Amino acid sequence: MPKPKNNDKLPIVYSKNYDIGFRGMEKLHPFDLRKYSHVFNELVRRGLIKPDQVVKPEKASEKDLAAVHSAEYLKTWQDRKALAGIFEVPAMGKMPAFVTRQLVINPMLHQTGGSIAAAELALQHGWAINLGGGFHHASAERGHGFCLVADITIAIKKLRETHPEIKKIMIVDLDAHQGDGYERDFYKDPDVFILDFYNKYTFPMDISARQRININEGLKPGTKDQEYLAKLADALRQAPAEFKPDVIFYVAGTDILAGDPVGQLAVSAAGVVQRDEMVFGHALTNKIPVVMLFGGGYLPSNAGMIADSIENLDKKFGLLKKNTPQP
Ligand SMILES: [Zn+2]
Repeated sequence: MPKPKNNDKLPIVYSKNYDIGFRGMEKLHPFDLRKYSHVFNELVRRGLIKPDQVVKPEKASEKDLAAVHSAEYLKTWQDRKALAGIFEVPAMGKMPAFVTRQLVINPMLHQTGGSIAAAELALQHGWAINLGGGFHHASAERGHGFCLVADITIAIKKLRETHPEIKKIMIVDLDAHQGDGYERDFYKDPDVFILDFYNKYTFPMDISARQRININEGLKPGTKDQEYLAKLADALRQAPAEFKPDVIFYVAGTDILAGDPVGQLAVSAAGVVQRDEMVFGHALTNKIPVVMLFGGGYLPSNAGMIADSIENLDKKFGLLKKNTPQP
């Protein structure tokens, strides 16, 4: 069978290796850890993409990891207790190391490879979506809050190395939690502009990393659509006056959804779709390549909502149709 030509591909990055498995232990964790394949399958089911149109990433290499993470931190990945802490699954402390690697570490390395690939694709297409990644709590020296690999820092670093003309990066982090990981990593980098909307009374409460945020919106628990979207519109209007990015990294966490037990905000599903449209609208109108990463949000309803949002982005901006080859 002939391989699909590269130009038939969409800048959507995914591999079946993304799903995180805990061998039945997912029942001990409140997350839908297979949301990655759930979103992919839903996009295929709706006829928005064909399975062979997505770009399948390589796993992030040892070199990619070592470019950002300290040797000391990488060594903790051999430590079952340390991993159990990062993933907040105490039972992992009893899992054999090879099981942990296969079920948890490898998926996150594949998703990190996806963030790297998506950054590259966004330069070519003007946009790209990694159906995973966005581990915004991980930094060079530390993993926590279910984030093992600092995929955002790694992807930004690699993009800048491969493309010396790319300097100025804007991170738009709309996950319900503060992105303390990359905030620490880029603390002293004035060429990274950070817009972060988060519930100010929940994890990680990193007051020192908050000092680094350029547009800092600490929201109250229970914040609803009207306030959230109005503040976002203001922030997106304000940003270009302060900073003209070469690329936008968008952490599109869906844990802002009403009823999410960890996000504790109260944005509706329609509000989440509207939010994604505003960020893409801002990037595409200003011709800034945008890289969308998933971030958190693991309620079973999230996969369908993310598919709704990607379908809406296609409807509003013709993302998928424009690239789909004519029969
Ligand atoms: Zn989150």
